Amino acid sequence: MQLIKILPRTLKGRLIATVISLVALACLVTTAIALEIAYQEMQQSTGRQQYALLTSAALHLESELDAKRALLETIAEEISAQQIQDPLSLQKLLSQHPRLATAFLDVIALNGSGQITGDLKETSDVVRSQFTEKNYLEATLQKQRGILSEPIISSSTGRAIVLITHPVRDSKGKIVLVLAGGIDMEDPDFFGHIARLRPNATGYIFALTRKGMILNHPNRQLLARNIGNQYPLDIDRKKHPFYGWEGWTLAEDDTEKSTILTFKQVRGPQWILGSSFPGEEAFAGIEKARRYAWACALAVALLAGLIGWAMMIVLLKPLRTLRRHVIAVERNGADIEVLDISRKDEIGALGRAFHSLSVKRLEAEKKLERISQTDVLTGLGNRRQFTQQVDAIVERAGLCCQGLSVIFLDVDKFKEINDVYGHATGDMVLAEFARRLLSAVRPTDRVYRYAGDEFVIVSEGMSSTERARQFAMRILERIREPFESNQGTLHVTTSIGVAVARFPIPPVDFMMQSADAALYKTKRSGRDACTIELVN
Ligand code: GH3
Ligand code: MG
Repeated sequence: MQLIKILPRTLKGRLIATVISLVALACLVTTAIALEIAYQEMQQSTGRQQYALLTSAALHLESELDAKRALLETIAEEISAQQIQDPLSLQKLLSQHPRLATAFLDVIALNGSGQITGDLKETSDVVRSQFTEKNYLEATLQKQRGILSEPIISSSTGRAIVLITHPVRDSKGKIVLVLAGGIDMEDPDFFGHIARLRPNATGYIFALTRKGMILNHPNRQLLARNIGNQYPLDIDRKKHPFYGWEGWTLAEDDTEKSTILTFKQVRGPQWILGSSFPGEEAFAGIEKARRYAWACALAVALLAGLIGWAMMIVLLKPLRTLRRHVIAVERNGADIEVLDISRKDEIGALGRAFHSLSVKRLEAEKKLERISQTDVLTGLGNRRQFTQQVDAIVERAGLCCQGLSVIFLDVDKFKEINDVYGHATGDMVLAEFARRLLSAVRPTDRVYRYAGDEFVIVSEGMSSTERARQFAMRILERIREPFESNQGTLHVTTSIGVAVARFPIPPVDFMMQSADAALYKTKRSGRDACTIELVN
């Protein structure tokens, strides 16, 4: 109901409001859907791109680790029985090896009891201390193969380091030495190279072990920290990289901003590579497109609304014209032909329907008018018609400089006919009386049933008393002829009073009074006769 109240009152206004609303809604919905699809597509493509990037980075890490492991293995195979016993010659072997110094931060060799028998740089306390502290020697001896350590922080560089070990066996296959190499996570040839692939300005790439130890992260506070499965907080467990999941997801970072998080498992070392791409940057393009799209949608909606408005005005013009014509026909009695529109559409049909209704109404009015002026019993014009026509007849006669006679007739003793033969026979007499009058008059004469058994004849051009007398005598004779009825033969007579006027004709009322007086005279003098009065 409220909606109906706020709608414009005219059909034109409502149609325009509807068109504009629909166009605006269509633009709004289309734009919203298109933008949402573009947004989803952009998310997907950014996520897939990040995942592809991390996949190649993971392969790079794996191959780098394999290369370093293979290098240690080569050294281990090169170490002879003599060098195992002689630290000096072992030291010499290590320091003279061309690729060892570039591949590792430092390499040390320990014997089974934990004594360092060789050291590439002799400066790396970290490698040495960590090695003994964390029992990587024991682990290597126990597992009988090389291991990869958890990350540790280098006291000298502050960078994260991981250790990789490899056993040195004697000719009987017994482990006699363990080689341990330190890998700087930020080494440009190792992770440093990957970190530079970070997405845009605020995005970053990070690495951690499956246990949650951070290997590399732009926030140095986190390095070598165990963040366990607390990170990232709002990632679904099913999509948790610590449980082997890899792929991309949309998550909120610690500042509650949307970010695309991508994870890739590095299979060999059981590490996880991750990238964080803040939504603000990732979707900056689409945000800009969104603003343009909304501005365009608004402009299109406005333009379409304007066109719709103009179209409505043009299309509804014939309807407005029809409305104007209908009002004009109704109020001012304008010609109904204006409604007979030849258009083929609904407006044409409406106009023709109005026209047809108006024609029918006019016909009905004319019929009513005719009925109201006609005497039902005799078919003659009644007193009403006489009153309406007499002035025009007199005027016409005046224009032709002619005289005129008004003839009053009254059936003699009609009450008796009614009383003796009944009302129906009386009616039959009146009808026959009228027929005889009509057959006796000239075509230009007008005959009316004035009231009850009274009739009036107006005869244009009859301005001589002699002609009036002849005319009256002819009528008297016609009436005297017997009336045949189902009650038998009746003899009816009439009394006539005639007022004859020469040109110029006196007022109608005067003529009527004169004719009435003449009739009265006839009645008094015995009926079935006529009295002729010349009024001027
Ligand atoms: P007079 O010679 O003086 O005219 O006597 P009259 O009996 O004819 O008297 P008057 O003209 O006054 O009577 C007219 C009668 O006509 C009175 C009325 O009952 C009767 N009458 C009027 N209209 C009709 C009608 O439509 N049908 C019939 N059957 N009678 C009518
Ligand atoms: Mg009478």
